[in-house]
Order: sequence, then structure tokens, then C-alpha cells
Amino acid sequence: MSKVYNFGAGPAMLPEPVMEKIQQEWLDYQGMGVSVIEISHRAKEFVAILEDAQALFRELSGVPDNYRILFIHGGARMQFSALPLNLAGRKSGKRCLYFETGNFAKLASKDAKEFCNVEIAASSAETNYDRIPEYDPAIFTDDVSYVHITGNNTIYGTRWNQFPETGDVPLVADMTSEILSRQIDYSKFGVIYAGMQKNLGPSGMAMVIIREDLLGHADAKTPILLDYTAANKDNSLTNTTNTFAVYTTKLVLEWLKGQGGVAAIEKRNEAKSAKLYAVIDASDYYRGVAHPEHRSIMNVSFNLPSEELEAKFLKEAGAAGLYALKGHRNVGGIRASIYNPMPMAGVDALATFMQEFEKNNS
Ligand SMILES: *Cc1c(COP(=O)(O)O)cnc(C)c1O
Repeated sequence: MSKVYNFGAGPAMLPEPVMEKIQQEWLDYQGMGVSVIEISHRAKEFVAILEDAQALFRELSGVPDNYRILFIHGGARMQFSALPLNLAGRKSGKRCLYFETGNFAKLASKDAKEFCNVEIAASSAETNYDRIPEYDPAIFTDDVSYVHITGNNTIYGTRWNQFPETGDVPLVADMTSEILSRQIDYSKFGVIYAGMQKNLGPSGMAMVIIREDLLGHADAKTPILLDYTAANKDNSLTNTTNTFAVYTTKLVLEWLKGQGGVAAIEKRNEAKSAKLYAVIDASDYYRGVAHPEHRSIMNVSFNLPSEELEAKFLKEAGAAGLYALKGHRNVGGIRASIYNPMPMAGVDALATFMQEFEKNNS
């Protein structure tokens, strides 16, 4: 097998020790004689996996005790609808504020429109989402059901460095592409959710972290599997969950703990992204998409002088074992997704490739 570095945005690379462990246990989970995906979601062995994953997440994130950790079907996109269904009814006017900071942020507000009165708090569309927009904190009035942000904008490679202070209005964040990549104060949030396929595990599921007092407001028509209150009551086992995703996530969390936890991985993530931004900043050849003050440490998006050169870059990078660097179809260019599992060696290989490519093609 020839080794490649996988810079894909999601589903993304997983830590190699996690995949080896899955392979080892695949045919015989802990002496049961069956695979982990062959046992009931209600078997005590599986419930232990689920509860271990929740406990590990709590330990690694530092999320306070008055928050529940749920596994919900449908990835991040399904939560775009689940959120207003669960939270809009907190206030009679069903006013929901959305920050428009990129493609997923726009989809989140679009989906929410079916279930609440969406207002755009601020948008960076004018500068093609190269930054987090300025806003007036006076908009966070008590009659607002919740405020929604996208913590890290996966396509453009921007992130919130300082989260908005929303007072008594619950702050909700889509952290799909940055969950557990940096230390954050969970007590500032009402809900944090993340599709699992970037920093946690396989696709198709989301982790939802919700403050207890926000449960119990779901619209009466909320499908049972999207009702966070029901999920909490049933410990995320209202129906058959994606047992393989939960199992893999548990292994990823164990791996992260072995890496020294979130503080240690954040330092490494900062060092990894700094290496790529240094190459971009040292050259007029590469142009970063994100404004330097709003740069993501998870997704580094940039352009070359022409589309022809970008195509050549992708082709030669692929041949050099640097996989899936193509930017999102909406923006083109190059995007290096460097989530928690990406080793420094992968980033070093890309940085060197970028410097060589510039030398040979300018
Ligand atoms: C990838 C991504 C999504 C989409 O996740 P799905 O699980 O495919 O729905 C949503 N939001 C953000 C910020 C993402 O990076």
C-alpha cells in the first residue's frame, strides 16, 4: 500500500491506530464471538460504548454537568431543521438570528426558515465570506429564541476567534469542522452540534451538546428522532442508532486523550496551520482566501495565479501522495483540511510541495 496524506474535508482521515484497533476487533468484539456491528444497540456491551463515548467527550471538552451529550441521526444538515424545531418555541415570536458566514451558514438559515422567523444578524457575503462580519450586540434582545453561528467555516477557511456575547439568548454553534480542535468555554453556549465525519468519526450522525434547561420546548410536530428531549430521555437510543459510528467515535476520543487532550491538540493544530499560512504569506504566488485575522486552523483555502496552475497543482500533488486538496465546488482553488488526526509530517510534506511547485511554475 502506498501511503498518502488525506487532506479531504469530510469524510476525513481518521487516526491510524483507531483503524487498526477496529480491524483487530472486527470479527470478535471483546471475546463475544461477534462483531461490534452485529450486537444489539441495547446490549450492555454497546450501551457501555455509548456511555464511555459520552464520558470521554465530557472529560476532554470540559463541558459542564448541566449539558447533555446526544447522538442524533442525519449529520449536521439534519440539525439545521432540528434546531428550530427544538428551540424556536422558547419565545412566542419564534425569532431566530443567523450569522451568514459561508455556505453551511446559509444552508442552516435556509432550512430553518420552514420552522421559525429567520433574521440575518450579519453577513460577510459582500467580501465573499473571507471573514467574520462585524455586528451590533444590541440585536441580542430577550425576545430572540436563539442565535446561530458556524464556528469554523469549512469552505472558506475562516473561524470565530471571539464568540458573540449573547447574554440570556442561547448561542448555538455548528462546530462540525472544529469540534475538539481548540479549547472553548462551553458555558457560553446553549447548543453545540457537529456532524461526526470531520473530527469525530464516520458520517451520518451528529453529536449534539445541549444545556438541560433548553430541553422541553420542541414543536409538537417534531419528528421523534429529531426531538432532543426524547433523545435525552432515551439516552440517544430512541431507535437503532448508528452503532458503528458511536463505536468509532469512542475510539477517536480515546486516541485524542492519548495525544494529551484538547489543549495539546490545539497547540499542534496551531503549529500545523501556521506552517501553511507562512508559505502563503511569504509568496505572492499563493493567495489565502481568508482574511489573516479570521483564519481557521482546520481548513486552509488558497488560490494560485490561474485555474490552469491550480489544475496542475492538484494533479502533481496527487501524484506526490497529497490527496483530496481540491477546493469546494463553490469556490474552487485549493483547500487543505488538517483536522486533529493530520500529522505534522503531512503538513510538512504539503508545505514543501507548495514551495517546490512555486519554484518550478512561476
Ligand atoms: C461538513 C459540514 C456540514 C455538513 O455536514 P453533513 O453531516 O454532511 O450534514 C455542516 N456544517 C459544517 C460547518 C460543515 O463543515
